[in-house]
Amino acid sequence: MEKELKDIRAYHLKVIEEKLIELITHKNRILAVQSEEIGEFKKSFDEFKPLTQIIQKTTRECLSDFQSKLDEADRQAIQQFHQQQDQLEYHASRLNQQQSQMQSIQELFEQQTRQRLQIAEMQKAKERMLIELQQTKEELEQKKFLKQQLMNNFKLSQQQQIQLQQELKDTEHQKRYWNNLLQEAKGNIRVYCRIRPNSQEDMLLLNGECTLVLRVPERFLKSTNCQKESSFNFEHIFSQDADQQEIYNELSDLVQNVVDGHNVCIFAYGQTGSGKTYTMQGDDHNKGVIPRAVEQIFKERQGMLELGWQTNIRVGFQEIYNEQSRDLITNQKCDEVKLLDVKDIFEVAEHFNTAKKNRQVAETFSNEVSSRSHFIFQLNLQGHLGDKQINSTLNLIDLAGSERANVAKTEGDRFTETKAINKSLSALGDVFNALYTKQQHVPFRNSKLTFSLYKYMEGSSKTLMMVNISSRSEDFQQTLASLRFAEKVKSCSIKK
Ligand code: ADP
Ligand code: ADP
Ligand code: MG
Repeated sequence: MEKELKDIRAYHLKVIEEKLIELITHKNRILAVQSEEIGEFKKSFDEFKPLTQIIQKTTRECLSDFQSKLDEADRQAIQQFHQQQDQLEYHASRLNQQQSQMQSIQELFEQQTRQRLQIAEMQKAKERMLIELQQTKEELEQKKFLKQQLMNNFKLSQQQQIQLQQELKDTEHQKRYWNNLLQEAKGNIRVYCRIRPNSQEDMLLLNGECTLVLRVPERFLKSTNCQKESSFNFEHIFSQDADQQEIYNELSDLVQNVVDGHNVCIFAYGQTGSGKTYTMQGDDHNKGVIPRAVEQIFKERQGMLELGWQTNIRVGFQEIYNEQSRDLITNQKCDEVKLLDVKDIFEVAEHFNTAKKNRQVAETFSNEVSSRSHFIFQLNLQGHLGDKQINSTLNLIDLAGSERANVAKTEGDRFTETKAINKSLSALGDVFNALYTKQQHVPFRNSKLTFSLYKYMEGSSKTLMMVNISSRSEDFQQTLASLRFAEKVKSCSIKK
């Protein structure tokens, strides 16, 4: 066994040894082939090596060249990019500019379109105007012709105008003459009556324009020795409904006499409270005779100036109290008032206010406040035209209250006052009566009042008495006294 094993092993070893020798031989063969191949490869490698180097070098050179070109191109590209960007911006701003220019051109264009339209319209208007101009030219020609004709007529009418002016002056003269005749026909002296409004009573009855019936109230029947009814006649009676305008309508022709060169006196007579001051002065809303007469004379004066008259108007304000005369502007005692030049009605009003402030008033028994003095407003008008001359005065007199106060009841100053009033009013009545009955002697000298006014009541002067009466039954006595005064003034004319 052991030998067997040894044989087997030796066999195997022999096989392995053989195999190994075979392997080594194979390996050597392969190695020989390989080294041969390597040698060949090395040989060819060495052959290629310089070429490879050249290629490498060329490639490197190419690469660096390419790189630098690339850099250059890059740089240029960037530069160009920047340039283009600049240009782009420049173009953009140009574009903006052009756009705004475009807009303004557009606007200009629109404007031009509008202007063209306007021009077209103007052209049309111009054509129309040319036509009108042509027409006007023709009219002008016609007018030139007419003017020539008129010029010819003018020479004629100038002569006619001179003639007309003369005729106008003659007419003015005639107007004065006729107005004067009319006044004389109406009477140079007149007595009018005005009834103060008082709706409740019917003590007074109007019978036409000139007759007034006084009915004695029951309670006075026994105490008075007159008939139940008595009538009184006047040149004119104003009912209690007559307003200031109606009164003035009847007086304005009298005032006109002043402009015609005659002196005029208008008296307001009556008991205190009967409306004398209301009639003469009135109030702001109901102007009385004085402001209306002043307005009328200034208006007439304007007409005279236009006819070539030279005129001057003066005014004066006088008060007669206790037989003494006082200038209400200077507030001094005087024999004759100083007349002041006035330009217009406003100046007259200013002086009037001064006069009113200076006027004396005192209390009486019959009324709370009453005027115890006579007030005279004077307006003098002077004028001349060629050989014609006028110098006339308007006198408007607001008399003291006519109430016959019981003299026995009064004392001292009041006694003197009452006596003076009674004296002057009865003197006035006598003067009126003498004038009314055309007596030779007129007793002007009997009182300060009549003496101050005699110049203006004589001759061609016009005089009017406005008797103001109350219709209240309680005023019966005073109304009766006033009516009797008026009756007495005229009574002799019937006897004549
Ligand atoms: P006299 O001056 O006579 O004393 P007034 O003129 O002062 O009286 O009048 C007394 C009052 O009666 C005043 O308030 C006045 O305004 C008023 N009056 C007088 N007459 C009229 C009239 N016709 N219409 C309205 N009021 C009048
Ligand atoms: P008022 O209405 O402001 O109270 P009136 O107008 O009644 O005043 O009276 C003012 C003055 O006129 C007083 O003095 C008054 O006695 C007098 N009066 C009033 N009515 C009449 C009249 N019908 N007739 C006369 N005087 C009158
Ligand atoms: Mg008065």
